[in-house]
Amino acid sequence: MIDSHVETIVDRSIEGQAPSREEILALMKLEVGSAEVAYVRWAADVLGRRASSNTGQIYAQIGLDATPCPENCAFCSLAARNTSNEGRAEVPDGEIARYAKVFDEAGVHLISLMATAAYNFEHFLRIVATVRGAIADDMPLMANIGDITFNQAQQLKTAGIQAIYHAHRLGEGTITGIAPERRLATIASAQKAGLALMTAVEPIYQGIPLEDIADRMLEVISQKPYCSGVGVLTAVPGTTMANETPYTRRQAAYFASIMRLAAGTSIPFGTGCGNVVWVDAGTNPRGRDLSTDPGYLQSDIARLRRDLIRQEWDVPARPLPRWFH
Ligand code: SF4
Repeated sequence: MIDSHVETIVDRSIEGQAPSREEILALMKLEVGSAEVAYVRWAADVLGRRASSNTGQIYAQIGLDATPCPENCAFCSLAARNTSNEGRAEVPDGEIARYAKVFDEAGVHLISLMATAAYNFEHFLRIVATVRGAIADDMPLMANIGDITFNQAQQLKTAGIQAIYHAHRLGEGTITGIAPERRLATIASAQKAGLALMTAVEPIYQGIPLEDIADRMLEVISQKPYCSGVGVLTAVPGTTMANETPYTRRQAAYFASIMRLAAGTSIPFGTGCGNVVWVDAGTNPRGRDLSTDPGYLQSDIARLRRDLIRQEWDVPARPLPRWFH
């Protein structure tokens, strides 16, 4: 028998009435193995399929550099305070274009170009032009870079970028060297320039009050991203946060489901329904070794596509124009 209060919250969510902050907090305190949690996760799946017209997406990310980053986020292996590297360390432009071409030909649905805040903005614009020349016009490009002004957001848009990943992180300004206002201003500038927003509630780990996570969920929903979710801390050895305890994937998936109930169908992709998967190349801030072999990347994308289809998502062969216009 499911607790009637939880049943009411979930049933209302399915009908379009989002849970209140207090109800979100009540859901967050449920035992992750309970029948109530299973009911929340079922509802998140229903809402996520409704929000995305049952569409699954494969996103590819290319890390452009591993230059020590002056923003010094405590969780990041590329932060200046967490690395013994010195000087610029950038993936050659030609290699970035080669990865992008592999991803494009394999039929991913978006390519993210990720760089540290140390990456020169003019260089980034040149990379966008190079990548645009190597891939089909219908392939969306996303910038995941440092904070930018409205003018720079406009330049990105003109250069051929459709979306931006940017997050106002939990603990921003405390575990990172960035004032929260700067992160929020970048998000506002990007959206004003016509770039779609991907963002997340991140990084979550067990030291963070549930109230803070709930508040950030509501903030993200108010920003109207096209894709979002809950990002668990990767406690990378050697970083300042190596000893923090991340939430388990099961718990994080549950929090993402609660966020989906709160978002309803307002966020098309991600957020508690499992319709977005990722493949990576180049550098990354989590200290992982990535494959550079095109054959491996292609087979990995084919595997991700199969996995989505087995989860009964419709996976288009190419990105659909309506996603970013
Ligand atoms: S998370 Fe991004 S902004 Fe923060 S240190 Fe790493 S690369 Fe720099």
